Amino acid sequence: MRTSASQLASDITRAATRPRLTVVGTGYLGATHAVCMAQLGFDVLAVDVDTAKIERLAAGEVPFFEPGLDELLRANLATGRLRFTSSFEDVATFGDVHFLCVGTPQLPGRQNADLSYLHAAVSALAPHLRRGSLVVGKSTVPVGTAAALADRLALEAPGVELAWNPEFLREGFAVEDTLRPDRLVFGVASAPAEAILRSVYAPITDRYDTPVIVADFATAELVKVAANSFLATKISYINAMAEVCEAVDADVTTLAQALSLDERIGGKFLRPGVGFGGGCLPKDIRAFRARADELGVGHSLTFLSEVDEINLRRRDRIVQLARGAVGGSLAGQPVAVLGASFKPNSDDVRDSPALAVAALLDAAGAIVTVYDPMALDNARRARPELTYATSATEAVTGAKATVLLTEWTEFSELDPAELAETAAGRTIIDARHTLDPARWRAAGWTYLSPGRPAMPATAPASVPARATTVPATARSVPTPRQVREALAARAA
Ligand code: NAD
Repeated sequence: MRTSASQLASDITRAATRPRLTVVGTGYLGATHAVCMAQLGFDVLAVDVDTAKIERLAAGEVPFFEPGLDELLRANLATGRLRFTSSFEDVATFGDVHFLCVGTPQLPGRQNADLSYLHAAVSALAPHLRRGSLVVGKSTVPVGTAAALADRLALEAPGVELAWNPEFLREGFAVEDTLRPDRLVFGVASAPAEAILRSVYAPITDRYDTPVIVADFATAELVKVAANSFLATKISYINAMAEVCEAVDADVTTLAQALSLDERIGGKFLRPGVGFGGGCLPKDIRAFRARADELGVGHSLTFLSEVDEINLRRRDRIVQLARGAVGGSLAGQPVAVLGASFKPNSDDVRDSPALAVAALLDAAGAIVTVYDPMALDNARRARPELTYATSATEAVTGAKATVLLTEWTEFSELDPAELAETAAGRTIIDARHTLDPARWRAAGWTYLSPGRPAMPATAPASVPARATTVPATARSVPTPRQVREALAARAA
């Protein structure tokens, strides 16, 4: 027998004392959420359609790299609070609150989000839901999705309510962000739904006084895509400034530093480089733009297409720098690529700028060797045509140019003098502005980075690597022609 709406309230109120939680989809978001909820003291059962993933998680192995998650997984499996299953029926029977954490990738060949995984998860869960419970969406979705799913649940599982609770975790800091989020957003349609979400997050809100924003479904859904669009825009803004700097030999890193000191602007996400990537920002801004079109407000978000374009152009710019560094043509030239993941402290290569640049170099005829501290397996699967090395030194050995594309700490700690001995050409292209240019130049390297004037390896020591108080006009930087000559001389 299904429950009535009034029973839902009483079931939820009963469960609100200590709800049992389930997590549907155990990828980067879901696995982290399941582990962290168990860490907060809840009994958690997690399900995924990928049985191999479930087996690895149940055996205490996180199927991806996320700092600190392995230890917490094993600790919570040991307590018995955290379990994994492939049975949706078990999940439906067990849980008071079901978190939907499945993927919402970009539809192939389109800009829109693919909601088929979300609908499949609801189809698998709904027939087994027999008592009042709360289904909580955490995936990032186009506005309007929650209302559609609520309608589905009303038909397929009467008495079950929906809430939307978007997730803001950052890969690389996922555990920290889940256990201590900077804000919580509850998209709810009733007071009992809000009450149960408050009880789930009470261990966090009681301890840290975390702000809770209670909203309707649409606003809650929009918070997430609006946040990601803002962050993407900030990155593309400073990269647009890099393009202007390149036209006049100005230094975008100095520009960014000066801008960041304005409290109204701030320095976060104002770091120029090869741009954003990963499993969220690119697909989220495209899906947001597509959804706005459907809603008849496409004109409000046309700028997001430009944000995307600027971002993708940065990848071409790195290839252009590499081409110049090896004398004009990449054909047959060995190039080392340092980094494959879309950001450090993650093995995620989804829409990774690093792998995209590696592929562009390969397509231009270069002999590309990629090294990454954590993402080699994923990179091999995504780009089997590339060659991979097991260390930075191995990748750089014999390379005519080296391109740094992911800002792993390991790379900023490399010894440029040591690498200079094995490299065939001493040009480093720092696509993330992460290296100390003076250190690399002192070791005989030509240091290049997008949005900054190039200087030959013999640049006078008095030229500041990162100007702080010296006005740009007072600095002696070489003209583009001098740079081209220096590069040509080095290539010869
Ligand atoms: P992911 O691809 O790592 O994980 C998705 C998981 O869902 C996979 O394990 C897949 O097997 C599983 N799945 C697919 N269909 C299923 C079904 N019908 N039933 C059960 N499981 C199913 O993706 P992710 O990075 O964890 O992202 C998930 C969602 O969270 C996306 O909407 C994403 O935008 C959002 N999000 C991700 C992050 C992040 O940093 N990764 C941060 C915030 C929000």
